Amino acid sequence: MRIEDYIPFVGKETVEEIKSISENLKDYEVLHINSTYIGGGVAELLRSIVPLMNSIGLKTEWKIIQGDDEFFKITKNFHNAIHGENIEISQNMINKYLEVNKVNAELINLDKDFVFVHDPQPLALIQYKKNGKWLWRCHIDISNPNQNLWNFLIKLISKYDGMIVHLPEYKRQDYIGPQFIVPPSIDPLSEKNIELSEDYIEDTLRKYDIDPERPIITQVSRFDKLKDPIGVIKAFELAKSRIRMIDFHGLLDEKKFAIDIFRILKYKEVLQLVLVGGLASDDPEGEKIFYETIKKATNDRNVHVLLLPSDAHKEINAIQRGSTIIIQKSIKEGFGLTVTEGMWKGKPVIGGKTGGIKYQIIDGETGFLVSNIREAAEKILYLIRNPDIRNKMGEKAKEHVRKNFLITRQLRDYLKILKILKESPLSSS
Ligand code: UDP
Repeated sequence: MRIEDYIPFVGKETVEEIKSISENLKDYEVLHINSTYIGGGVAELLRSIVPLMNSIGLKTEWKIIQGDDEFFKITKNFHNAIHGENIEISQNMINKYLEVNKVNAELINLDKDFVFVHDPQPLALIQYKKNGKWLWRCHIDISNPNQNLWNFLIKLISKYDGMIVHLPEYKRQDYIGPQFIVPPSIDPLSEKNIELSEDYIEDTLRKYDIDPERPIITQVSRFDKLKDPIGVIKAFELAKSRIRMIDFHGLLDEKKFAIDIFRILKYKEVLQLVLVGGLASDDPEGEKIFYETIKKATNDRNVHVLLLPSDAHKEINAIQRGSTIIIQKSIKEGFGLTVTEGMWKGKPVIGGKTGGIKYQIIDGETGFLVSNIREAAEKILYLIRNPDIRNKMGEKAKEHVRKNFLITRQLRDYLKILKILKESPLSSS
């Protein structure tokens, strides 16, 4: 991918600006480290930003840390505790966490000009910093963490030359180094987001037994309790129970819904819910939540729970594009790239009123923010009943993403930060 390929989306000026900042950074060595190549938003972002940084002249590498099941169980506990769950963090857990980071410090060449360490799993690598400037790139909501755990983490974070968070409210008073706010972004040219033919979209839906002619409500997410897949099924069932014969006026307005007499007689069966997810290698709770979700879904043949392979980007793209409404009913959410992806595809998104979702969905304009199952069900019904409104919302949503959440903006933000760090003599380690 060349940076010029993005001109049709963001214009020549933005691309020229990126090229001009990168002039000062040519041939610098950059390393990104996280804990998985597959599944979840961080991997999704790195898959695009790493080649793009290379294409503009920075020598950029992406490495992951290796860990066993016990390590990832501990870091998942960290994740949940940072999101406020009351979890006892024992000294044994801390020791194991530090030990795995130590082993990885020996496996990875950390001697680079700039190192981006993503999220808490590899955070302790900072203890093995040799040269260069190190940034902790945090993708989660750290506004209200479990205090015991945080007391430990902040000591490590303080050794970094800077920290990058998604949103203003994630900035920390107890970190004294420079803090930068960089919301994530999506790549319009990736398989996940590129335009697709109608035929491919239909074929993909049919492959998974989803009827392209009936309304489809979709949530794409790792199977994680904070994504609330069970809540999504409950909201769907509630919406379905309230659907009335008259709602077909809304549905009939769209050509694709060829409603025949059989369906009218079974009108309550008109809506379909699709829960698409995969398992991330750094998320040991996924399997359990997946089985709970299937169990909840078994009574309704219009609820499709799909466990897709980690490289099914194009199929996920097709399912998002073939959907009538995208939902992301998260209880906690760092940013919510699935919201960005849905909006980019011109869909109205119903999202949990939390974290980065609040910054993406302008309530009532580019989608709806909801706080509980009842509200989610109401908004599903509202959007099903009002095709013009959902189309207008979808258009606005796409434009909002184009202006604010495409990868070129994030790349530019990163380059500006690297430039600041390069010029700053400060190093806190
Ligand atoms: N994703 C995927 N396959 C799945 C589930 C999610 O490719 O089975 C992708 C999804 O399209 C999005 C990212 O993973 O790009 C999830 O990012 P988000 O910020 O929504 O949530 P996170 O998983 O990072 O908490």
